[in-house]
Amino acid sequence: NETAGFVNHADRLKVVVRIRPFLKEELKVRKRKHYLAVGEDYKHLYVMAKNEDKEFQFDEVLDMETEQTMAYDTIGEPILTNILNGYNSTLMAYGQTGSGKTFTVFGSRNSIDTIGKTGPLLSETGVVPRIIENLFEYIQQNPKDAKFRITTSFLQIYMEQITDLLAPMPFGENRGTISSRGGTGSKSLTIKEDPKTGIFVHGLTLKKILNKEELLNIVKRGARFRSTNSTTMNKNSSRSHAILQIFVEQRWVETGEAINGDLAGDSDGKPTKKRSHRKALMTIVDLAGSERVSKSGSEGTRLAEAKAINKAISALGNCIVALSKKKNGRNNYVPFRDSKLTRILTESLSGNSKTIICACVSPSIIHFDESLSTLLFAAKSM
Ligand code: ADP
Ligand code: MG
Repeated sequence: NETAGFVNHADRLKVVVRIRPFLKEELKVRKRKHYLAVGEDYKHLYVMAKNEDKEFQFDEVLDMETEQTMAYDTIGEPILTNILNGYNSTLMAYGQTGSGKTFTVFGSRNSIDTIGKTGPLLSETGVVPRIIENLFEYIQQNPKDAKFRITTSFLQIYMEQITDLLAPMPFGENRGTISSRGGTGSKSLTIKEDPKTGIFVHGLTLKKILNKEELLNIVKRGARFRSTNSTTMNKNSSRSHAILQIFVEQRWVETGEAINGDLAGDSDGKPTKKRSHRKALMTIVDLAGSERVSKSGSEGTRLAEAKAINKAISALGNCIVALSKKKNGRNNYVPFRDSKLTRILTESLSGNSKTIICACVSPSIIHFDESLSTLLFAAKSM
């Protein structure tokens, strides 16, 4: 069995910042002032406001003009390439509500509605449908003549409750939306640990994917739920984390090539055959809005939500910092156990894995404080 090679520290974590364009409401505000400047290298980001001048450096900064195709090239294509090469790979969208996480990961509301329909992709189609299109294009070309096995799961964590987004809907599909409790509704799934296979979510649907349309439809169903710019949408979507996992397995037979007229590796001249096997887990995380809900001003559900999100996000931050400090080969202690989010991500983030964080920010000065805190989170991960 083929195992993916050792991952360098530099390849392990990539931090990208995306600045979305101004929204209509933000343009109405009189104090429309640019406070973010992107360096010519598209790595530096300068923050100038409130007597605070700060300079950041990231792996890449995607400015307001960035098209979805460019976003795909920066954060999607590397994920797909890693997966096909056998590396577990994770893409995480981080940022306050309204900063463009879902737009980046799944696409605009409009484009989400067209997922799975034939015809060219829309310019607003997000990274995940593009990854799927390209994955299946690769499978069709199939340069190694491999057998592919693809399985997927899709879950949500809301207030530390895990729900299965692939479970049948209790009251039908309801125009493609998913109830606030997710699929089966009532009960929260539990996280278990198997001594052999590691951490898993007990009872979570693992769907075997037979064709592209099936996978696109699963993504569409979940993505509709995540897009916030519709009045009928579930208000909790910005308060919950969504985790889509796509497990890609390839099996193929390698035949020894002829060298100097002979066939390599076999003395009697017959072609050598070697069975190869590659598997990798792709994890896409659309995180809950990172904004700090003020504890003094909130009560009841809002306060509980805020506490759950703050806990999960700070646990995630601690894990990422521990992982990014990881010296080649040497394991730091990574506090995966501190939240359900990080427990579920244990396999995705540890070992020979590669992670891309896409930190999303608004260009409007109205959101200065939240954007700065997002950038500080992202910079801490570098
Ligand atoms: P989040 O998921 O972080 O809460 P959304 O992805 O829902 O934020 O984005 C908020 C709004 O901004 C949506 O109306 C979305 O269509 C729009 N938007 C976000 N990013 C972009 C972008 N790069 N280009 C155009 N519109 C965007
Ligand atoms: Mg969203």
